[in-house]
Amino acid sequence: MTSPGSDTPVNPHAGLPFTDDDATIAAMLEEVSIPALMCSMVHLTGDPSWVRGDIRPQGLFLNEYQGYMPEEMKAQARALALPAIAAYRDGGGVLPPPPSREVLHEMMSYLACEETDPAVEPMFITDLNLDVADSGRITWGAAVSAEVKADAPVLVIGAGEAGLLAGIRLQEAGLPFVIVEKNAGPGGTWYENRYPGARVDVGSHFYCYSFEPADHWTEYFSQQPELQEYFERVMEHHALVPHIRFGTEVTAMAFDDAAGRWSVEVRTPDGSAETLDARFVISCVGALNRPKWPDIPGIDDFAGPKFHSAAWDESVDHRGTRFAMIGAGASGFQIAPTIADEVETLTVFQRTAQWMFPNPNYHMPVPAGDKWAMRHLPFYGRWFRFLTFYPGAGLTIENSRVDPAYVDDRGLAISAGNEFTRQMFTDWITSQVGDDPELLAKVVPDYPATGKRTLQDNGSWLACLKKPNVRLVRTGIEKIVVDGVVTVDGTHHPADVLCFATGFRHTEYLWPMEVRGTGGRLLHEQWGDRPSAYLGIAIAGFPNLFCVYGPGTNLAHGGSLIFQSECQINYAMDAIGQTLQGGHRVCAVTQEAHDRYAEHYQSEISQMVWAHPSVEHSHYKNARGEVWTLSPWPIPTYWTWTRALDPTDYTFT
Ligand code: NAP
Repeated sequence: MTSPGSDTPVNPHAGLPFTDDDATIAAMLEEVSIPALMCSMVHLTGDPSWVRGDIRPQGLFLNEYQGYMPEEMKAQARALALPAIAAYRDGGGVLPPPPSREVLHEMMSYLACEETDPAVEPMFITDLNLDVADSGRITWGAAVSAEVKADAPVLVIGAGEAGLLAGIRLQEAGLPFVIVEKNAGPGGTWYENRYPGARVDVGSHFYCYSFEPADHWTEYFSQQPELQEYFERVMEHHALVPHIRFGTEVTAMAFDDAAGRWSVEVRTPDGSAETLDARFVISCVGALNRPKWPDIPGIDDFAGPKFHSAAWDESVDHRGTRFAMIGAGASGFQIAPTIADEVETLTVFQRTAQWMFPNPNYHMPVPAGDKWAMRHLPFYGRWFRFLTFYPGAGLTIENSRVDPAYVDDRGLAISAGNEFTRQMFTDWITSQVGDDPELLAKVVPDYPATGKRTLQDNGSWLACLKKPNVRLVRTGIEKIVVDGVVTVDGTHHPADVLCFATGFRHTEYLWPMEVRGTGGRLLHEQWGDRPSAYLGIAIAGFPNLFCVYGPGTNLAHGGSLIFQSECQINYAMDAIGQTLQGGHRVCAVTQEAHDRYAEHYQSEISQMVWAHPSVEHSHYKNARGEVWTLSPWPIPTYWTWTRALDPTDYTFT
């Protein structure tokens, strides 16, 4: 698509033309985010005064889209916007010159309700995609000869969100590539996790590719089927299908030092083994992918159906059964409220209570007006995304740092700010179950707030636990027997179906693949229980291999894993680009850079709440209680580090 009379491609984020009448537009404006609308109006009119007046958000809180504006203020904004939008429509949708850098600063500060830091603004401005539809597009492909490209096939492991993204970027670069996917379809975690109630808990308009339209989401926090459809659509739209080998699993890979290539063993759909050759490998296998079954005595004695939440057995009809769920983290938290009314009884075994915070939009549909604005009003959708991105950018990560001067003998808080958060979260829980002291005692966590993954809550979890057919058991499990679960107090809890919502082998990166690097070194021996990679991406001794969602890159303080993947794929592509453009075959992170990063990483993460000893059970920790899984960096810091590879950190041969 090009704009009239020009060869410049139309930026879809600038809005598609519309002919709706004034009454329709007025109706749509009833359902938009007014703060995002005000920013869109700056683009539409070229007038910055929209963000300079008294109509302004009163505060910004994650997953709240109206900036706490009073109703009269919102009505005033709509009344001012309607004639301007009508004039824009009647004028053929011609946009004035874009806002200057200074005005963009004002717009960001307006939405953030604080003066935004110029040091972090480049990331947000790049993400707005104001000039082009995709600011991350790979442009170096033309600088590499066809012959060099032909000799540099890339193998991508996994066709989840990151693997598809890798495919899109490799295609832009013009490199030969194949994506190997163990499942029968794309989507990774969203292909596998089909349990009732599965939905994303990062706002959908941020949990999506920055360069794809986002006007289609039907809910602010999409459910699994819609996410899976999204990844299928992206795969097809970018013509990736011919590059993907479904039902094919990588079992082992070894780097051939002499050839400077990877030799990759796969198990094909018919079970036979095949060896694939690659110059570069990009691992997009995810970190929360391999289910973890608990080591509970008697687990095999259970006579009824049993399955893991990540492999929900659709052949089992759970309706009317006595259903027991072992484990209640993020997955169990979504399953229980969804099935509670369908089962006869629901017994939830929860070892550790979870912190949760209010999110009234968690189950809300996106209204027609919001979708219309995302489709038609210039950059409205981008500013709407900013409303989630900015408070989710980890800019307040210092709140997660343990204050060594703060003393709390209870082990309930790591700083004064954290104690405030604890009280706020406790008030939220108490407001729902304060009338039931027994339940209240079971559901208020006894470790610092945000020490594990904090869950989004609209009240459905605690409402579920109050139902007469639902029981929350916090007593430890002694064993599983033929017809139920026995807790350490000797109580027998009858069950017809057992679901293990017990999480994933998070600390065992790249397991169960056998990965051998330079000199035949085995990755899992090198790592032991301390997996580390430079920027979470490159591993010393394992050249031409890049990990997405590798060690130390999971996010507990904000962000979106899709944005995180965009950072990591950008870096991996730059590494490949620099290698090929420099006439090299191999790029290897130096041991020095790797170790320097690992030391810096561990010194930071060990000071954070997630590593605090009072957080006893956590999938973020290894058996020693150390964290090698989470990122301790604000998102803009990591974005800056992954813009381009620093050649001094690598050897090229
Ligand atoms: P999880 O957070 O690790 O929760 C596992 C649950 O099983 C916990 O309650 C855990 O107790 C319990 N458990 C584990 N081993 C046990 C044992 N041996 N005996 C008794 N209980 C045991 O796993 P998850 O709920 O699948 O979530 C994992 C991650 O996936 C999340 O942190 C999140 O990043 C992601 N996720 C995201 C979404 C979303 O976006 N909405 C949904 C689901 C998952 P303890 O807490 O005591 O260890």
